[in-house]
Parts: sequence; C-alpha cells; structure tokens
Amino acid sequence: MTYRAPISDILLALNHGAGLQAAIKAGHYGDFDGDVTAAVLEEAGKFAAEVLAPLNRVGDAHGVKLEANQVTTAPGWPDAYRRWTAAGWNAVSGPEAYGGQGLPLAVNAACTEIWSASNIAFGLCPLLTLSAIEALDAHGSEDLKRIYLEKLVSGEWTGTMQLTEPQAGSDVGALRTRAERAPDGSYRIAGTKIFITYGDHDMTDNIVHFVLARLPDAPAGTKGISLFLIPKFLVNADGSLGARNDIFPSGVEHKLGMHASPTCTMTMGDKGGAIGYLIGEEHRGMLCMFTMMNQARLGVGLEGVGIADRAYQQALAFAQERKQGRAVGNKGDGLDAIIAHPDVKRMLLQMRSLTAAARSICYATAVALDISARAADAKVRAAAAARGALLTPVAKAFSTDIGNEVAYLGVQVHGGMGFIEETGAAQHCRDARITSIYEGTNGIQSIDLVTRKLAANGGAAVWALLDELSGVVKQVEASNDPAFGTTGPKLRDALGALDRASKWLLERVASAPNDALAGATPYLRLFGVTLGGCMLAGEALAAKGNGATGGDPQRYVTLARFFAENMSVQAGSLEKTVTDAADAVTGADAVLLG
Ligand SMILES: Cc1cc2nc3c(=O)[nH]c(=O)nc-3n(C[C@H](O)[C@H](O)[C@H](O)COP(=O)(O)OP(=O)(O)OC[C@H]3O[C@@H](n4cnc5c(N)ncnc54)[C@H](O)[C@@H]3O)c2cc1C
Repeated sequence: MTYRAPISDILLALNHGAGLQAAIKAGHYGDFDGDVTAAVLEEAGKFAAEVLAPLNRVGDAHGVKLEANQVTTAPGWPDAYRRWTAAGWNAVSGPEAYGGQGLPLAVNAACTEIWSASNIAFGLCPLLTLSAIEALDAHGSEDLKRIYLEKLVSGEWTGTMQLTEPQAGSDVGALRTRAERAPDGSYRIAGTKIFITYGDHDMTDNIVHFVLARLPDAPAGTKGISLFLIPKFLVNADGSLGARNDIFPSGVEHKLGMHASPTCTMTMGDKGGAIGYLIGEEHRGMLCMFTMMNQARLGVGLEGVGIADRAYQQALAFAQERKQGRAVGNKGDGLDAIIAHPDVKRMLLQMRSLTAAARSICYATAVALDISARAADAKVRAAAAARGALLTPVAKAFSTDIGNEVAYLGVQVHGGMGFIEETGAAQHCRDARITSIYEGTNGIQSIDLVTRKLAANGGAAVWALLDELSGVVKQVEASNDPAFGTTGPKLRDALGALDRASKWLLERVASAPNDALAGATPYLRLFGVTLGGCMLAGEALAAKGNGATGGDPQRYVTLARFFAENMSVQAGSLEKTVTDAADAVTGADAVLLG
C-alpha cells in the first residue's frame, strides 16, 4: 500500500482553484511569495511516503494500550513522531514569534491532506495540536503563551481538545465538568470527559489539555463555559517538568477504525482537582473554543480529502492489475484489466473527481481564512472572513462525506478482495467513518450552514460566491472547447438550483425553522456539488490557459466535465429535496413514532 502525494493536482487546486496565487499577487499574503510551496509539498510527500505510510497498517493492526494510567501507542509511533518534530513538520504554520515557520494556513492545509492520506490516525494528533496553538495564541495570557506555545509549536508537547461528556455531545452547553477558583489565581477542575483524542500517549513527555468547564456562578448553557489549559505535568518556573497533574486517562475506546489514535476517557479531580489556567475570560470559553474548532473543522475536512485520495490511488492500482472478463471489442484470447470496463471507469472517475472537488473546497476555505487574517485592507479581511465562515461547514461536511463515499467505492472496485483486510481498502472505509461524526457531526455542520452562515447579512456571502462562480461558467462557455461537453449548461443549471434553494431557505429560517432544518443536509450537498463543479472547471481553464501543470492539461478538462455531467447535475434534484420535501420530513412522526 504505497502512497504518492499528487503534487501537481494539489498545486493546481491550491494556486489556481483556491486562488492562492491571485491572493499573493494582490498583496494579501504580505512577504509570502509562494516560491517555496512546491518544494515544501514535495518534501511533505517524501516524509509521508517514507515515514508515515508504512505505519498506517501497523497502527491499525496493533492499536493502543492503557496500563497503569499510561497509554502506549503502536510500535514505531513514538519514533515517527520524533522524526516528525525533528523535521519541523509540526511548525509549518506556527507563529514565528514562537519558533514556527509562519507559512500560510493554505500551505499547511495541503500538508494536512498529505499526512491524512498517508496515515490519518497519526495526522490527527498534530491536527489537534495546531488548533490548540491557534486558541492559545489568540486568547491566552502572555504568561501562558511564554510557557506553552513554543513547545506546542515545535511539537515537543501535544495538545488535546476536551469538550465531550456523556450527556454533552453536540449540545456542548450541557457539560458539567466543574472549575473552582484557587487563591493563587489558578483553578481546580473536576469531572469526566469522554472520547478525547490523544488524551494520553507515549510520544511526548508532556501533554497540554484544553478543557471546557463550568464555574460555580456560571450562567446556564454555552454562555457559562470557560476554557482551561491543564498540563499533564505541571511546568516549573525554569521550564522543567514538575508534579503529575490530577488528569488521567481512565479508559480507551475500542473503535470501528482509527485504531492507532487513542480515544480516551479523561478523569479529573480524584486527587483534589486538576490545576488549570484560564484561557481568555471566565464564561467566555466558547469564543476561544470556536477558534480551535474552526481550524479543526477544516482539518477534519482535509482528512476526508486525504483518505479519499489514498483510497482512489489504491483502487486505481488494483484496477490496472486485476484481470477479469473482456471489454467490448476484445476478440483476442487475453482477459482485460477491470479498468477497461465502463462501470469500473465510472467508479474510478467518481472517486477522483469527488476527491478533487473536496480538495478545492477545503483549500479555498484555507485561503479565505488566511486572507481574513493577513490582508492589509480591513474590507478585504472582512469579506474573506465571511467567505471562510461560509465555507468552513461545507469543507468539513462535504469533504468527509466524500471521504466515506470514495473509500466505500474503493472497496467496490476491489470486489471481494476489498472486503478482506489484507488489501487495506477496508481500513480506509473504517478510518473514514468517524470524520463525518467528530468535530461537530455533518448534520450539525449543515444546520450551521443554513441557520448561521447562509442567514448572515441576508445571504450576502452566498450571493457574492454565486456571482464569482457564474463568472467561471461564462469563461467555460466562452472557451468553446468541445472537450468540456455540456459542462457550461450543467453548471449554470446547478448555480440556478443553489440560488433558488438558498433564497427559499433564507426565507424559511425565520418563518418556518423546522422546514429549513429538514433541508439542511441536502442543501449542503447541493452547495458542494455546485461549488466543486465550478471550481474544477476553473482549474481546468487555468491548466489549459497557462500550463499550470505538467503533462496534458486536457485531463483536467475531462475531469471537470465528468464532475459537471455526473455530480453537479444532481443539483436539480437536491434543490427539490430542499424546497419540496420538508413537509414529508416534518410531518412524518406517524411513521417514526406511531
Ligand atoms: C473517535 C472519536 C474521537 C473524538 N475526539 C474528540 C475529542 O478529541 N474531543 C472532544 O471533545 N470530543 C471528541 N469526540 C466526540 C465527538 O465530537 C462527538 O461524538 C460528536 O460531537 C457527536 O456527539 P455525540 O456522540 O454525543 O452524538 P449526539 O450529539 O448524541 O448526536 C447523535 C445524532 O443526533 C444528531 N443531533 C444531535 N443534536 C442535534 C440537533 N440539535 N439537531 C439535529 N441533529 C442533532 C447528530 O447529528 C447525530 O447524528 C470524539 C468522538 C469519537 C468517536
């Protein structure tokens, strides 16, 4: 099961689809001129192929162990992590003031895809550390930053994100973990968190936990939650490690997939309370947590892209080797490789084009978030922030749905061998499954898209995006390239469907919220197949127009055409599901509860 990072596809999507090069040219990236991007990604691809990919199966087969309050990871894991930090991969987009390389989030997004493709269970650990870095950098006191940031940026210590409790999953506001003020200005935390990723492990000598808890005088719900930094080992004034803090892994889960990533129950307070330090202000922890979550949501979307690409690469290789049956026109004695059969071709093209569309959407989200933080002009920053906010739930949910669908198709391409663990196709399916659940389920992402992101400013961010996409479709039509087939009209239809569904939902969010909620998931899909189709078409034009990639640029036209004619055409029926089928959902209690 080898992995090769698809560098030219990544560069096309990043530089042209997501608009990194245009943003650099417009001066939104300051000093960063993009010259290093290709070299960084080449090196990331090498590291992923040589160090991470070979451990993917080992981790799946071996899993993790919890003994005497200590989690042990799979063989080779601690060494790979040591090489990871030594090579500087943890610090790619970290703040320069704390030893990071300060590269754009967009470049790190491409790296995240590569880590996830090669070894999703490994990549998840730094993904969470990165979110912790963001939250601490944005909201932490200077003291906390001085003590913890450099070590988190280098990866010497890892970070966790602790929201979930048995009664508080999607509804974070229901959490009960308690925090008490201590006389020295710190806090004592007691409670139990479940499902905490890399809550404990043996890859670093300290772990920095970011924990949501409630003070005694906190208002109810999410407005009464505070965020605390709780180190596994306390840190002495000279930076050395001190006493073990009162936060312990009390269980690890046995899971469908992601076996190598420890998912821990964390217990705090058995020995008087874990010592914690407030991040941001009391009762305003959700604000800080959102900084972490948005970053992590994009990261999880990229996990979907990565696992999809890995599954595609493997299915393609299998389809080229496996001989079965004869293709139409084969009159000789020999059998054909299954890739000769149109149904297999269709599956492979579906896998590849869905992956490419999800990749483009994720990278576009990263570029928008970069511009929102880096651009000099406040108006440009605000518009980019609105675009980033709009795209984040789409990047998360569409891409992780795609990760699942593509991994599932990967098993199908393998036939019976796909169901046999040795081929590895099944592992991708098992590993992908959690990505549409954690970091806010995809249902919750859809609701966020409809009720907050679409609804913001009367839909202004959506109309601005539709306008831009319409410009791409015009260019496709103007290109008069017959290889685009019916791409132009199909995308135009899809844009019309998205426009109408958006207007319908915008009206219902206020007047009939249950109707809007019932259509949220098909709306997000409609968003994905429309946006993805337009982005692939735009990339194909760029590949043709300026030789943005090596090889024959027409392959991107073929891919864009396949997507438009097979995926974006679903927009029409998705629109009807949103606008015509709400009653069938909201009025269905007799079926479900009767
Ligand atoms: C392997 C793994 C790793 C994880 N890592 C972490 C971690 O590091 N840190 C952490 O804090 N948590 C972590 N989680 C927890 C994860 O984020 C939650 O499982 C997830 O948010 C869903 O919460 P829940 O499981 O309680 O499901 P529930 O919230 O009970 O949801 C069940 C179903 O109901 C739907 N639903 C719930 N509420 C609504 C609503 N208002 N409207 C519409 N539909 C709704 C959901 O979409 C879902 O389909 C992890 C979980 C797993 C399995």
